Amino acid sequence: MFSTKAEFKEAFLNRVERTSGKSFAETTPSDQFQTLGNMVREYISLNWIRTNEHYRSHRQKQVYYLSIEFLLGKLLGQNLLNAGIYDLVKEGLSELGIQLSELEEIEMDTALGNGGLGRLAACFLDSLATLDLPGHGLGIRYKYGLFEQKMVNGYQVELPEQWLKHGHVWEVRKADLTMEVPFWGRVETENDNGRLTFHQLDAEYVSAVPYDIPVIGYKRKTVNTLRLWSAEPSRYMPNKDVMKYKKDTEAISEFLYPDDAHDEGKILRLKQQYFLVSASIQSIVKNYLSQHKQIRDFHRYTAIHINDTHPALAIPELMRILIDKLGLGWDEAWHITSHTFCYTNHTTLSEALERWPVRLFQPLLPRIYMIVQEINERFCQQLWEKYPGDWERIEKMAIISYGEVRMAHLAISGSYSVNGVAKLHTEILKKREMKRFYEFQPEKFNNKTNGVTHRTWLLKANPELSHLITESIGNSWIREPEKLSLLKQYEDDWLFLEQLKKVKAARKEILAERIWKQNGIKVDTHSIFDVQVKRLHAYKRQLLNILHILYLYNRIREDSTFSIYPRTFIFGAKASPGYYYAKRIIKLIHSLAEIVNNDPIVNRFIKVIFLENYRVSLAEEIIPAADISEQISTASKEASGTGNMKFMMNGAITVGTLDGANIEMLERVGSESILIFGLTSEEVMKFEKDGGYYSREYYHHDKRIRRAVDRLVDGLLPDSEQFEVIYDSLLEGNDQYFVLKDFSPYVAIQEKAGYLYEKEQERWLRMMVQNIAQSGYFSSDRTVQEYAKEIWKIGKYGNRD
Ligand SMILES: *Cc1c(COP(=O)(O)O)cnc(C)c1O
Repeated sequence: MFSTKAEFKEAFLNRVERTSGKSFAETTPSDQFQTLGNMVREYISLNWIRTNEHYRSHRQKQVYYLSIEFLLGKLLGQNLLNAGIYDLVKEGLSELGIQLSELEEIEMDTALGNGGLGRLAACFLDSLATLDLPGHGLGIRYKYGLFEQKMVNGYQVELPEQWLKHGHVWEVRKADLTMEVPFWGRVETENDNGRLTFHQLDAEYVSAVPYDIPVIGYKRKTVNTLRLWSAEPSRYMPNKDVMKYKKDTEAISEFLYPDDAHDEGKILRLKQQYFLVSASIQSIVKNYLSQHKQIRDFHRYTAIHINDTHPALAIPELMRILIDKLGLGWDEAWHITSHTFCYTNHTTLSEALERWPVRLFQPLLPRIYMIVQEINERFCQQLWEKYPGDWERIEKMAIISYGEVRMAHLAISGSYSVNGVAKLHTEILKKREMKRFYEFQPEKFNNKTNGVTHRTWLLKANPELSHLITESIGNSWIREPEKLSLLKQYEDDWLFLEQLKKVKAARKEILAERIWKQNGIKVDTHSIFDVQVKRLHAYKRQLLNILHILYLYNRIREDSTFSIYPRTFIFGAKASPGYYYAKRIIKLIHSLAEIVNNDPIVNRFIKVIFLENYRVSLAEEIIPAADISEQISTASKEASGTGNMKFMMNGAITVGTLDGANIEMLERVGSESILIFGLTSEEVMKFEKDGGYYSREYYHHDKRIRRAVDRLVDGLLPDSEQFEVIYDSLLEGNDQYFVLKDFSPYVAIQEKAGYLYEKEQERWLRMMVQNIAQSGYFSSDRTVQEYAKEIWKIGKYGNRD
């Protein structure tokens, strides 16, 4: 390959001409990107092969992370950094007259996910490989990822994301490892000398073809694998309408389903889930049997993680393989299965708990349904022994009930570990949502507070800040994020604080440039960049942020002596296509922006920016530029949040509620360095249980609230008839998310933020240092190490377990 810049340049020149069939001068950035991507993949291929060989020959315990989402973003920059050739390639290209950043721009985001859950999976892969841990991802290769959001007159339009249009340079198709996944048909039971055997007859098979993507550890020899399955027509084609079969089959890996709102296409989604788990389990078992003689030791060499309930059918699928294909008895199969799986719960919002109607489930997956029934019966039997006569409890805990399969119950009963994603979230699971399960098997429950890979969200996204950190404390923080705490010593270092200020200013310039290019609006880079970027959801309360802006608008308009330090409010958010309320909020932000930005009195103080198509690569540009990070969900609703951690690493100050991981951020930085406001989760849950909150009282008694809320519908805003449902949700609907209740403390904390930023600059800078210094805990390296040690029980590449 290449090991010097000169070798790289020669190899690159040669190759880009050969593969494009053009002279170098004629090649396009797209040709160049393609060539570079292929070169990087080949550069690490020997390590990839060696890692796999090592895992095989040392029979090391492996962990497989099953997830219906992987939100990877762009891979070129991270792969170059992790392979340790970023600077070499950047300089080499530059000498050839090519800007690496331009090639990075060309890559499409790999957006096979909706938001936090999928991004967490991506962060875990980076940490696993960097920590030399034998952990691999398994997911679906959706032809179209999360939709591309185009704003048209303030309305969200969804376009299919054609990320595969030019092929995917990082993947390797492995057609010889194709698995066959059965749907439909019927089950025949046979009595084979007193032993029952089961055969699924007349099934419709779908081929699952794996595409492998290398996951490169940061400056490590470890290269793990993300395997994505694509659905293709099988050789065992059913005897029926071939075109329809082809269409139905390909639909399975066509679209990622937006899961944050109402269900649509239930059957297709169930098909996707089984497709993922069946292909994955078959492949894991096959791989295991190629190295081990005894299937009965399977769980000693394999841990399979279920990321939320979408892959929970992996539990009955492993039972099916063990019993029907490998001839094990139920008890032995269950022993292996229930010692293999671990499950992470991601939400306590009851509308997000998956349930499948038996009438859909049973015909589509007849054998799996039989197994789920058997698991359910035995589980209820166990419950009966512990709680004799307590029918109510058993009914509430059953896996199948009222004609529905409850996926969370299946996941808990089949797993040896159940974890929440932040301390508060885990406590809520234990005390409320899954109370009975916790009482029954407390030893299964544990907490693993989420993290994000700082190698993406700091090292890659913010090279300016990374350089400053490395200059100050050396580069050990890149592999040992807790070392960031060494920055503490610079808290009073005037020179360091000055440099930090410059870094933030530089990043604000970059974002301002993007805003100018995308929105045609000039923003003042000396203003406070106040940022809320995340999926649009009622519980995340973008509406509270909006009402605060309306309040400021009113103040500025009504009182000519009123003045505040200038602020730029920056939003980015996609709404699930069927989530109409969320779409209205997006429209509201646009109408508000139009009024605020074009009012010469108001726009001296505030501006409102909505950046369309929020996604990983855009987040990497926005987050380093933020002064204020808005994490203002209704307490108890946000399981953890991970956006909050990315902002913290980049020196933004959090304005947040006592929710999710914000609480643990507070514990680490101290109350001086985070701006906390609003109801606690206990208070919210008490109101929800006992009542006692009347939003109208707040509306009537607080003039600021009344005037801000009235602005929604009084004709100030363009298309204001669109906002009546929002107005109604606050008053008629009694404000389910306590927006008006938290309004006053929110205004107060925002005033404090403005005051500190303007009048106590040095203190603000020290708060920034404290946040960066304490952010090491929120690296996914820490999270993954906890999973490895306490749940998966896996050792490092190179160590025998
Ligand atoms: C981190 C991330 C999220 C999750 O953000 P939260 O604020 O935790 O909801 C969603 N989308 C993208 C693109 C992200 O990078």
